[in-house]
Amino acid sequence: MKKVLLFLIDSMMPDVLERCIAANKAPGLRFLLEHSQYIPDCVTVFPTMTASIDCSLITGVYPDQHKVPGLVWYDSEQKKIVNYINGAVPVRKLGIAQCATNVLFDLNERHLSKDVKTIHEVLEEHQLVSGSINVIAHRGHKQHKVHMPPLLDAITSFQLRETVSGPTIMSIGTLVRPDIFRPVTWNMAQTVFEGYGINDTYAIDVLIEVIRSGKQPHFTLVYLPENDHKLHASPQNAIQHLADVDKQLVRFLDSFASWEQMLERNVCILISDHGQTVIGEGEEHNISLDALLKGFSIHALGKEVTSEVEVVICNNERMTFLYPVNGTEQAAIVEAVSVDKRIDLIAWKDGEKMIVRRGGSKQELSFWRGAEYSDAYGRSWGMAGDPSVLDVQYDGETLTFDTYPDAFSRLYGAAFAQQGPAVILTAAPGYEFLSECAPTHLGGGSHGSLHKRDSLIPLVIAGAAQSFPLPARLVDVKDFILRELGVISGAHPQ
Ligand SMILES: [Zn+2]
Repeated sequence: MKKVLLFLIDSMMPDVLERCIAANKAPGLRFLLEHSQYIPDCVTVFPTMTASIDCSLITGVYPDQHKVPGLVWYDSEQKKIVNYINGAVPVRKLGIAQCATNVLFDLNERHLSKDVKTIHEVLEEHQLVSGSINVIAHRGHKQHKVHMPPLLDAITSFQLRETVSGPTIMSIGTLVRPDIFRPVTWNMAQTVFEGYGINDTYAIDVLIEVIRSGKQPHFTLVYLPENDHKLHASPQNAIQHLADVDKQLVRFLDSFASWEQMLERNVCILISDHGQTVIGEGEEHNISLDALLKGFSIHALGKEVTSEVEVVICNNERMTFLYPVNGTEQAAIVEAVSVDKRIDLIAWKDGEKMIVRRGGSKQELSFWRGAEYSDAYGRSWGMAGDPSVLDVQYDGETLTFDTYPDAFSRLYGAAFAQQGPAVILTAAPGYEFLSECAPTHLGGGSHGSLHKRDSLIPLVIAGAAQSFPLPARLVDVKDFILRELGVISGAHPQ
């Protein structure tokens, strides 16, 4: 049986991938594409932020089932903002100890629902070995010791748990090292300056050593983050950034006797987590949430959510959760933000229904699960109001989505990841949200929204026995791999 390798390349976009290959800057990607089923329009999860997407990739479900709503969200029981680390300033405000605990421990052991199983858990329950290299969502049946670097250890005041769970072969930079015979040769990629090994070079180093040591798991998920960081800063150099990723893939391919030999031994899948949208240069491209919500008492980052607070803002770049607290009316927040045309969508729950509006308009569309309309993925929905709000088309048989791919399931997924009220905002193309300490990217790249620019990702499947079911979604990758490894059989359930 072939082994399966899944490379998760942060912010890889289909048009950039195609242009990079056409410009002869990506021999590794070209080789894989030439031997693959290439899907340029796979739909990812909303919000288009890595943390909740990683959870969907390893569990095969949207956030309404796995319960990790986004990168930044409000835990109303603990009365705390959860932040899986979105930049240095908010991390300093919230405290490195809280954020590091959130990302290393809470995400996997507390937030990710125990009602769903990760691909690592399923595989290892079937006596197959699974592996995870540098992925923040990694829950599995084995416990791994965390080696805190002295600097981080001192700052976090030894508050972190000593172990985290994961599959048999697991690496989280230099913090959790894989249990293999060969040590990974030390280089700069493992220093504090390079995120303690949470980078492309170290991830490929680890993968190569795992394979050379004869310990390659049946399935390995490898996360390559650098394309995202570079695109945020300089989207105009997108092709060069992906060419840099290609150099790492070539290093991996070259570790075999031939590139063909790699494909004889492995199914090699490449996927992205989300796209990016270029933000305008002028300050008006940052939508100030403080200004829009000036009539409310807004929670100050790093402070307690006291009884005076009316709104908690959780900014996910081109998407935001606004939480009404202490009896604040959700409707009052909706009205306050509805005046701004730079806001693309405003969505909220009303019982079991979702209601959606566009910024600057009062036209509404509502939808709910389990009624007469069915979408291309076999889900059924009811809807009322103005379908143009979400650019929904109905041909008498199937609901289709263009501007907002898989819009109903994805919006529903984000909104019902939590029980209480939350108003969801997305920014129009070219815009992102501004709030206290949130990282912004004027003239750079950003993501988070439901729009297709942030939501359509390439999926490259090389050397597989079956073809991937279309229309493709990121949440269907888990079952595809389980079928490829013989753990589940039969056709894709439509
Ligand atoms: Zn990003």
